[in-house]
Amino acid sequence: MKNADLINRDLSVLWHPCTQMKDHEWLPIIPIRNGKGVWLEDFEGHRYLDAISSWWVNLFGHANPDINQALARQMESLEHVLLAGFSHEPAIALAERLVSITPDGLDRVFYADNGSSAVEVALKMSFHYWQNTGQPKRTRFIKLSNSYHGETLGAMSVSSVDLYTKTYKPLLMDTITVPSPDCYEREPDVSWEEHSRLMFQHMEQALQQNAGETCAVIIEPLIQCAGSMRMYHPIYLTLLRDACDRYNVHLIADEIAVGFGRTGTLFGSEQAGISPDYMCLSKGLTGGYLPLSAVMTTEEIYNAFYDDYENMRAFLHSHSYTGNALGCSTALATLDIFERDKVIENNVALATHMASAVESLHDHPHVGDVRQTGMVLALEMVSDKRTRTAYPWQERRGLKVYQHALKQSVLLRPLGNVIYFMPPYIITPDEIDLMANAAIEGIDLATRPHA
Ligand SMILES: *Cc1c(COP(=O)(O)O)cnc(C)c1O
Repeated sequence: MKNADLINRDLSVLWHPCTQMKDHEWLPIIPIRNGKGVWLEDFEGHRYLDAISSWWVNLFGHANPDINQALARQMESLEHVLLAGFSHEPAIALAERLVSITPDGLDRVFYADNGSSAVEVALKMSFHYWQNTGQPKRTRFIKLSNSYHGETLGAMSVSSVDLYTKTYKPLLMDTITVPSPDCYEREPDVSWEEHSRLMFQHMEQALQQNAGETCAVIIEPLIQCAGSMRMYHPIYLTLLRDACDRYNVHLIADEIAVGFGRTGTLFGSEQAGISPDYMCLSKGLTGGYLPLSAVMTTEEIYNAFYDDYENMRAFLHSHSYTGNALGCSTALATLDIFERDKVIENNVALATHMASAVESLHDHPHVGDVRQTGMVLALEMVSDKRTRTAYPWQERRGLKVYQHALKQSVLLRPLGNVIYFMPPYIITPDEIDLMANAAIEGIDLATRPHA
């Protein structure tokens, strides 16, 4: 079978996510036959280094032998059972593990089956908590500009990236938007920490004015991933935790993208020494194998729902595949790898290697920023380095980098003008060099005047 056969069949029946399908009149879909480690292979034997972990989910490579084995073993005994009235060992064991590795106080686990659903759960739980505790006026949420929390209507309501939400505005909840602490926007002589502190004033003000009607503040710790990998200093989270306590507002940490080591620590919240009231987890949770998500929360919040049935305080939310046993088994295998291979410690060297591999780009006339937090590194293409003027989005320069990188056997998937690396943790230094060189060459080509 050739790529072309698959492509023809694909285009006659599939509608791909986050895609203008007309692009595929000239931009070939790439059908993948198999994956092994960081490598994907198409039907004609072309290989692609998965530098973006297949949309940020894969942690330890495709067809990972340990995760495969755990999955196969689980399939022998139980694939799935409803989680209402019933339970199973992988769901229990995973909840125990998550409670032990997440920040103190997150002692309850509510499962869902994808990231957006986890965000919906956290929003509904927070709203419902205030209903249950006699504060029905709390109906609103505070979010950051440039934020992204998923694609369902509730999650879109607390997201700010126009590209994904603007069309649907009439359908969305009314939320309060606070300017992001995004450090790309800082003045040249201001440090990340100073800038993040300065930007916190806006949050303080929003809380002061709206606390009485606010359920929660929702944030992505340290990196606004879908928002072009914009980053900020942990001090913002420390200040936010303190302010949420002072104003008695919940804090939702959406660690769906940044959790499980992406920021250099197991969870981004750790770098600020904070415990949120809700932590949303998905993506890397199963090592990139199966859709599963979890919302971690406190015993105090849990207890606000715990009552006699007739009092109607229960959280009657469910998804059919909640806490799927196969998903939980892959998550347990993933956590075993973190422990056994001292992944967080060993990633430090990989992160350093990523930084040095793109060192030359600091002086590139069309790279306005080289930023990194742990295992995420982003490069911002600009038309004018001094003023950091962005290329018009219509020019689709990122797409040119994508196309060039594919020819170099690297899968990059730029976000507009931003090229980034978020590789699986099993990547080798040589593979990092390959990935970096594809990006460097791609940026060179894409930023030529008439590219
Ligand atoms: C991807 C993502 C989501 C949504 O998760 P899905 O599984 O794609 O629904 C939510 N929040 C953040 C921060 C994400 O990166």
